[in-house]
Amino acid sequence: MRCFWCDEDFERLTDDHIVPQSLGGTLEFRVQACTACQTKLSKAEREVARKSILAIHALASPVRARHPNRPTSGHLQPVFLLVKHPLGGYGESLLSAGERMRSLAYFEARVVPGEPIQARVRGATAEDAQLLLDLYRKVLQLDKQFGPGELVCELTASLEVDPEIASDPEFWPRMILLPGNRIMFRARTPDELVSCAKVLEFVARSGYQIDASKWEGDVRITGGTPHKIGLHFDPQCVRRIAAKIAYGLFCSITKRAMVHYDAERLRSYILGTETGSDEPVSITPDATKWTTSSDPHFVILSPAHDRSAAFVSLYGLMFRVELGQMSVLSRPAAVICEIDGSGMRIGSEGEIASFTTRIKEATFSRP
Ligand SMILES: [Zn+2]
Repeated sequence: MRCFWCDEDFERLTDDHIVPQSLGGTLEFRVQACTACQTKLSKAEREVARKSILAIHALASPVRARHPNRPTSGHLQPVFLLVKHPLGGYGESLLSAGERMRSLAYFEARVVPGEPIQARVRGATAEDAQLLLDLYRKVLQLDKQFGPGELVCELTASLEVDPEIASDPEFWPRMILLPGNRIMFRARTPDELVSCAKVLEFVARSGYQIDASKWEGDVRITGGTPHKIGLHFDPQCVRRIAAKIAYGLFCSITKRAMVHYDAERLRSYILGTETGSDEPVSITPDATKWTTSSDPHFVILSPAHDRSAAFVSLYGLMFRVELGQMSVLSRPAAVICEIDGSGMRIGSEGEIASFTTRIKEATFSRP
């Protein structure tokens, strides 16, 4: 019982998807891994599937990779996801695995010195908006007395706003209802944040209730409306997962683990334990210029023009992984993985030829 990744012996091992499940990977290609390695890898996989540029594709695909009992599982974790609202201002949205984009409930407050204060509330349902207001009332502990300087509550806040939206006077600071009934504030500056929280505290204390009969309701954002998404992620996690797929599939196809020095280095790179060594993964530089499609992922090992490398294409984003001179197959091989999780298979001669052509047209550079 040896862990594929750390090469140590354990009494218990579990199946590890070589291509992460959240990207559509299935157990046709798997290895046995220990709990510690699974933890390290799933941390990188979450970064890829929930925060990275690939996350948008992963979540737009029909794969429902999420924990059934965790309300926050399976959501894109951007720093912001804003869309111009048909009734004015900017709406907050949520993108989850296997679902359509959802509107979040939020209260906005416009506070400009010397001008009247304005506030408004939006959301898919009146219930969501009322829930948000009631949650704010609860955290403010309105029934208790507090002395000056005494801590009433702690709130989560973000000062991340798309620069173009931030320069638009139509953007108002806001309080948002996140999944799992969490409150978050968003503003452009700390001063604006405090002003917004104060105005909404006034609303909370006023006894204001949402009138569901007057709720303008689920105002549809029309298809084709651009959404601004801010992502913050560790790009090395994306490269580590590409390396994991390449190395895992090589070993799985050849039915052997690589036991030489290169492989050891590659494994510690994949696990994230060795970061100072030579970067084995290069990437196509135009990473943001492709659109969603239902084309499968593919991996090609030992193509004729670059025998010691594996090429991994995930949602059209391509990686070159250096596997080393010890890891050359006698003939090229390809693995195809459907993005909807419907299966993985070995590619045909024709597919190998067409993938090779695509790889040769791409340019790869080291980060
Ligand atoms: Zn291990």
